[in-house]
Amino acid sequence: RRKIAVMTSGGDSPGMSGAVRAVVRSAIALGHDAYCIYEGYEGLVQGGDLIKKMVWEDVRGWLSEGGTLIGTARCAAFRERYGRLAAAKNLILNGIDGLIVCGGDGSLTGADLFRAEWPSLLEELVAKEELSQDQVEPFKTLNIAGLVGSIDNDMSSTDATIGAYSSLARICQAVDYIDATAASHQRAFIIEVMGRHCGWLAVMSGVSTGADYIFIPEKPPGEGWEKQMCDIIARHRRLGKRKTIVIVAEGAIDRDLKPITSDYVKKVLVDVLKLDTRVTCLGHVQRGGTAVAYDRMLATLQGVEAVRAIVRAKPGSPSPMIAITENKIIRKPLVEAVKMASVAEAIKNKDFDQAMKLRDAEFDEY
Ligand code: ADP
Repeated sequence: RRKIAVMTSGGDSPGMSGAVRAVVRSAIALGHDAYCIYEGYEGLVQGGDLIKKMVWEDVRGWLSEGGTLIGTARCAAFRERYGRLAAAKNLILNGIDGLIVCGGDGSLTGADLFRAEWPSLLEELVAKEELSQDQVEPFKTLNIAGLVGSIDNDMSSTDATIGAYSSLARICQAVDYIDATAASHQRAFIIEVMGRHCGWLAVMSGVSTGADYIFIPEKPPGEGWEKQMCDIIARHRRLGKRKTIVIVAEGAIDRDLKPITSDYVKKVLVDVLKLDTRVTCLGHVQRGGTAVAYDRMLATLQGVEAVRAIVRAKPGSPSPMIAITENKIIRKPLVEAVKMASVAEAIKNKDFDQAMKLRDAEFDEY
């Protein structure tokens, strides 16, 4: 009988609660004990009431909920060795030998580090007499599995992260609302969406709403983009379009890494095309609301797979990250997945080809 804990960490996303539900229920259904760690790594470091044994009914109704009902946090202590030492001690004191982390690339990087350090953490706990040799003996291996929860869809090695499609649906709905008023007044709207290092939400909402132009971090526009954008928009107007929608990812930059702000794009449209232009920053609305069907499905299938991966792990086998690739739920080595999550690094180094390659995307110029 295993004791399997689940936690959510980093930025919240719709579907995280569904993932927690799936883990709790499939652990119980397979005859194991299920635990929730509240408030992300903070709960692991602090222990006490933040680590709670769960029963079947505790997660009733969680499937459709937005956000995460067990809380999430950014935890500075877990980035330091002393924090991970406290976390290891709390897991052992609770008898937990399987940990499922649902979070973004930062959280999964932390989980992978924790896994790698595990044997030395135990040694240190014994050396410091925080725990006895007998106490640590049954916990020689800690099985970890990662679930990717993020609205940004910013993990390279999986097709979709839990929450991305809910956020996309919210953005499309908001743009539909704006469309009505924009067309009535023949206005232009600059819509700022989330995505600091990842343009997926901007690209997909642009495609889904028929936007006139988009800006994303991975593929900054070349010099003279202002004219190119204005030419395209002017052409659309000549064809009878009564509104203009430009979508700007919050991390949009030019090729010198200078931010492309919504206000600057607005200024260009006003100065060059004399359009009555407004800026709408969607902000945290994009994170809210219930999970769409796709995220409920993803959270459930992946949550079940994470528990299976923990229960069936062979000694020495690498910790998995649960991915979805070409519509199949599969396990990938966590360590590889985390290594791939270096798009931000590529952008910082102005290696935009590499950024696009890591995103598994190639766009032809047209
Ligand atoms: P996300 O998981 O959404 O990418 P963050 O990058 O903020 O969000 O990471 C969430 C938490 O994961 C951090 O507050 C920290 O506790 C932990 N974490 C992130 N990166 C590391 C790391 N390199 N080492 C240890 N812990 C980390």
